[in-house]
Amino acid sequence: MEGKQPLMVILGGGESGVGAALLAKARGFEVFLSDKGSLQEPYRQILRQEAIPFEEGSHTEDRILQAVEVVKSPGIPEKAPLVQTLRQLGIPVISEIELAARYTNARLIGITGSNGKTTTTLLTYHLLKTAGLNVGLAGNIGDSFARQVLENSFDYYVLELSSFQLDDMHRTRLDVAILLNITPDHLDRYEYRFQNYVNSKFRILQNMMPEDTFIYYQENPAIAQELQLRKPSVRSLPVSLETAPDPGGFLLDGELVADDGRRPFRLPTADLPLKGKHNAINMLSAVLAAQAVGVGPEAIREGLVTFKNAEHRLEPAGTIDGVTFVNDSKATNVDSVYYALESMTGPVIWIAGGLDKGNAYDQLEGLVKEKVKALICLGKDNSKLTGYFKHRVAFLYETQDVNEAVAKGLEWAVPGDTVLLSPACASFDLFRNYEDRGNQFKEAVKRLMK
Ligand code: ADP
Repeated sequence: MEGKQPLMVILGGGESGVGAALLAKARGFEVFLSDKGSLQEPYRQILRQEAIPFEEGSHTEDRILQAVEVVKSPGIPEKAPLVQTLRQLGIPVISEIELAARYTNARLIGITGSNGKTTTTLLTYHLLKTAGLNVGLAGNIGDSFARQVLENSFDYYVLELSSFQLDDMHRTRLDVAILLNITPDHLDRYEYRFQNYVNSKFRILQNMMPEDTFIYYQENPAIAQELQLRKPSVRSLPVSLETAPDPGGFLLDGELVADDGRRPFRLPTADLPLKGKHNAINMLSAVLAAQAVGVGPEAIREGLVTFKNAEHRLEPAGTIDGVTFVNDSKATNVDSVYYALESMTGPVIWIAGGLDKGNAYDQLEGLVKEKVKALICLGKDNSKLTGYFKHRVAFLYETQDVNEAVAKGLEWAVPGDTVLLSPACASFDLFRNYEDRGNQFKEAVKRLMK
């Protein structure tokens, strides 16, 4: 074995795995990539071009267990037999984020939460870009972090971090971290213990130093409770919808106020593209992060005004005869639906349903009573939704056809109403994914417009 390069094994050959393979190879490792499923053709081509050996359809343990280190895709669960074996043998397992962070001196802004990660990550990136900073966007979104580290030389990265990525991060130190909220989600991957999931989210803080900046939403019960116990020594900037933390971010008379103790920023929310209280939290967090890396008020103002969010997040989908259609297909848990309903200004025909991830609907009872005229269930098995809401909404309809759901919504609505797709559930019972569900909804609305 003498003179041989150490072996880095990459499990999972998607965007992050292939990026990790390229970076590891360039940094002197022998690399082997293994995917239990099949790779997309463009990724196969890259690996072949770079002469990186790979396998599809199975994991060859003999070879994998030779690794000095394994980079695991966040999609592979802890309970997978191969992961268990790696743990037993003490072979270190890291995420692509951890690998990439070793090879960059860029300042890192990491963003996590059960909801709002993508919105806040895109917005923070947009604010830094608007200020003219040399910044990359990575993590759970867009191009591989590792590949960007290899091919670019950004001064900053804005990273969207899921709990699964955080689980395999050990030494990465973030200069700025945002923790938006922690509400029940993905519990199947955390032994159905909420505390395990909370711990995973709090890993975002693990290597931060007193001079680093930690931004968090202070009224989220899980965050508040955990901070009481942990008392992290880091520069903390809370975001609040109820008080006016100083320093920190808050709403005052319809204005965003972000004061990091250096230069306060204020802006009325009325004309901003992001609507709703949840987006006020997202915006305040992004503004405080931008301030933390020195972005000034002019760029922040311009960035907030010109921001365009990703699709499927409270996305306007058209208007027919005074009835507005909104696509919130990305709302796959109860908390995101809470904020969707909260942000609605008139009566709502609510389309919900799909694969239930263990939902408890009590949180929505008040808002549904106040705002929802009718519920249209769009799922294979709607029993949980219908069971809870049958005596709590005036009209209820069940279908497995998105066209029918949209048509029914229009039939029941009067001018001024909103037909809102905000499912509270995963999409895989009737659709390929949440994008497919959102796109089919938008197409159904378009067809009715004609
Ligand atoms: P994530 O990447 O964490 O899934 P997204 O920005 O894609 O977050 O938003 C997912 C869903 O959650 C959307 O329906 C969106 O409207 C809602 N949402 C966005 N921000 C928040 C927040 N801060 N709190 C609760 N729900 C939110």
